[in-house]
Amino acid sequence: MYICFEGIDGSGKTTHAALTASWLRENGYMVHEVREPTDSNIGSLIRSMLSSPDARTPDVQRMLALLFAADRLTLRSKIEGDWAEDVVVSDRCYYSSMVYQGPEEWICEINRFAPRPDVVILLDIDVEVAMERCGGTDEFEDPSYLAGVRERYLELADKNGFYTVDAERGVNLIQRDIRRILAPHFGI
Ligand code: C5P
Ligand code: MG
Repeated sequence: MYICFEGIDGSGKTTHAALTASWLRENGYMVHEVREPTDSNIGSLIRSMLSSPDARTPDVQRMLALLFAADRLTLRSKIEGDWAEDVVVSDRCYYSSMVYQGPEEWICEINRFAPRPDVVILLDIDVEVAMERCGGTDEFEDPSYLAGVRERYLELADKNGFYTVDAERGVNLIQRDIRRILAPHFGI
């Protein structure tokens, strides 16, 4: 089972991926936590490119899209190999490339071999609220750009059957909803 958390920066993906993984472990599952970019060499390259000033120029976005697609293949061999009987909880998956990099058809094409999540949980949050949570750190994107990202996430959620959770509330309420969504998938 491959579970993926999506959402803009400050939506709580990292926090809820970790809490969800702990809960599933308490219920006896073998759980692997992953994130995109991954901890591979390709992932490190992506991180350094994301922090450069030209990160949002069209050609760098195209390079990033290709690198993210390559980075996902480092996950595929594990998810479909040694971890095939386990649970994988991921902070982002190929849907992030659809909203951040685009255009959609090209992203689909280059991600033809990317692992497909069984369940996607979109943590939906207002851009201003997310920004306050991040405390305006350097890595935070500009609000109008993120507003577009949020809209694209909501469209994707509609088209692809993501579970959308209101992420503007406290951690406990959000995590309660996530557990209610996931419990039937595990018979918990
Ligand atoms: O997941 P995290 O919030 O650490 O991502 C860091 C940054 O990477 C985000 O600000 C996001 O803009 C960017 N990103 C991206 N394309 C992706 C995934 C993440 O531009 N496919
Ligand atoms: Mg995070």
